[in-house]
Amino acid sequence: MTAVHDEERLPPYRLRLSSRAKYVRLRILPGGELELVLPRHVDLAEGEAFLRSRVDWVERTRQRMGGPDGDRRLACREAPRRLCLAATAETWRVRYVRCAGSRARLEEMGTGQLQIAGGEDDLAATRGLLREWLKRHARRVLPEWLEAVSRRTGLGYQRVTVRLQKTRWGSCSSRRNINLNAKLLFLPREQVEYVLLHELCHTRELNHSPAFWSLVQGHMPRARELDRKLRHAGRHVPPWIHCD
Ligand SMILES: [Zn+2]
Repeated sequence: MTAVHDEERLPPYRLRLSSRAKYVRLRILPGGELELVLPRHVDLAEGEAFLRSRVDWVERTRQRMGGPDGDRRLACREAPRRLCLAATAETWRVRYVRCAGSRARLEEMGTGQLQIAGGEDDLAATRGLLREWLKRHARRVLPEWLEAVSRRTGLGYQRVTVRLQKTRWGSCSSRRNINLNAKLLFLPREQVEYVLLHELCHTRELNHSPAFWSLVQGHMPRARELDRKLRHAGRHVPPWIHCD
């Protein structure tokens, strides 16, 4: 027998009945827990219908609140249901299909839909599959974008690789090989564009000297501001990426 549960199933939440609230409300508590605030005159079915219509918001808000500094414990206990990729303006839904006795495997079911069959209780395996998929997807997107920036700026490079590192968004070697982090897909597009330009400028200046910065800013006047923003960009990355 195959039981499907996907975005139809509601994320776990804590219910709070309120005599003061006028409308149904959702809150993400600091630890990442979801709270559904229900006015006394509203029944649970209505509250849950509201929650169902806001599942994307829940996921996005948790992503924003999470990141390396956030509380990751909750994220590590739940299977990811959505991958919200700001860079490509895509939302990929993850659907889980129960499939007894088999190892988990991931399949792309057309644009925006991923399916993981089997092994749904093995969260570590599930996350491993999603991380692998993220790398594959990033390899379809980032090298092309890098090439476009390279052509526009006339800054050449040798080779580009995409990996999933813990910390660095990108790097450039003295051989002008550029490595990009697949997690860039979670960042706003302009942040990604900045990282691409930053690494391409390292093909000329392999340091952060004034000469390097004037090269970067010559191509992107807002570079310094985007560089500062990048320090906090981890908040765009869903916390489950870093769970074991
Ligand atoms: Zn640099």
